[in-house]
Amino acid sequence: MHLKHHPDHPHDDELLYACTHWTGYDAQVDGYPTSYLWTALRLGGACDRLRDRILAAFRADSDRDVLSQLLDLVDQYARNGDGDAQQAMLDRMEASGPDEFEHYPATIINRLGERGLILVALQIGKRLDLGTYNDWIDLSSSSPQWLDPNRAMAVVKGQVGAGPGVDRLLTMLEEYAGTRAQSKSEPQRSSWSRTAILQLPFIKYRDWVRSESGRPMVYLSRKWGEKAPESELRAAAEIFLKAEDEFDRKLGLFVFANAPFPFDPQPLIDLTNDEDEFIAFHALRSLRHARHPKVRAFFEKSLAAKAHLKDLFGLLLGNLLPGDVERVTKWIRDQQDDYPVGPAQHDAEITHGIAFDLLEVIEYHDIEAVEIVKWVFENTPCRNCRRRALEHLIKHELANNEILVDCRWDQCPYIRRAARKAMGDST
Ligand SMILES: [Zn+2]
Repeated sequence: MHLKHHPDHPHDDELLYACTHWTGYDAQVDGYPTSYLWTALRLGGACDRLRDRILAAFRADSDRDVLSQLLDLVDQYARNGDGDAQQAMLDRMEASGPDEFEHYPATIINRLGERGLILVALQIGKRLDLGTYNDWIDLSSSSPQWLDPNRAMAVVKGQVGAGPGVDRLLTMLEEYAGTRAQSKSEPQRSSWSRTAILQLPFIKYRDWVRSESGRPMVYLSRKWGEKAPESELRAAAEIFLKAEDEFDRKLGLFVFANAPFPFDPQPLIDLTNDEDEFIAFHALRSLRHARHPKVRAFFEKSLAAKAHLKDLFGLLLGNLLPGDVERVTKWIRDQQDDYPVGPAQHDAEITHGIAFDLLEVIEYHDIEAVEIVKWVFENTPCRNCRRRALEHLIKHELANNEILVDCRWDQCPYIRRAARKAMGDST
């Protein structure tokens, strides 16, 4: 909202910084913030203004996390038909070293369809020739859902004769298809084939996870849920509701950590009191995006009873109502005043949980919530959350001079840098 109402684009520098730097804590845990960044770019009308600089950064950058983030952003331009962005991805794939190469195939095939598949196959063929190809890519299964594996294979076959490498690639693909059933490759896959796995329909994803790892793979399954279309989420929920073993039960909980549960959430609510704490925790998480009166009622009841506090406020991600910001602000204040052990003195883990969830909710709904963010800033035991709170205050021009002067000498280098930058001190 803020960006929308300030067409004089005072935030271009921050936006560009966020796009071209890795600002997360751990990519594996946090995932890449691309959709958030893209929304920010669009709201600020900065897509066009910053396009050239983002493309240039993509062409030049080398840090692994930043590169993945930039590739996702460039792919957003490509998705909207930007030919330069598509070319930048192809150029970068062509120029990439053996370790970097794995980033590109899935994105390019997804974006350019059969043409992309051909270009990737030719590129792998070339690398096989040169002996610089050290990864394994199953092109038929990494192709997006709309491209049937047999069709994908036929497309690659169509390129036979383009070079000895392509012929070898085809032989490899055929051999692999034959031995796939017995193959016991490591659960840790390269990031590009991970992208392909995330596009599998639920039933296939579930089979893959079962055979690859035997465990329901929490982060990958969360990511799968984030990317899944509604029909697939329904398929996942149906299997979860009929779950007969731990695997299906946990897999379901993980899938809905960042995706809306599409049916009556009562079974999830019941699990929040499961005697297995692990199940109870993940059940609560799986409710966060389930927008439903029952979730709201559960939130109210738990808040009144001060139950599940560590993970409770995350429920507002999907269930925020008008007036909630004021209520939570007051709730925090009341805890400080009336309760002998207010949140600040709580068990550090509970305080961190409350602070973290509130930040998530505030950032997700793009609200200012000054007092809450200040409370987070002052009370969280975690410097990563503290930095996020400060950046929020600065972004909304709510960081006063006192806070900034203080932060210039903070122990965390990112906080120091953010504060100095906000004060116009670039040294
Ligand atoms: Zn934290």
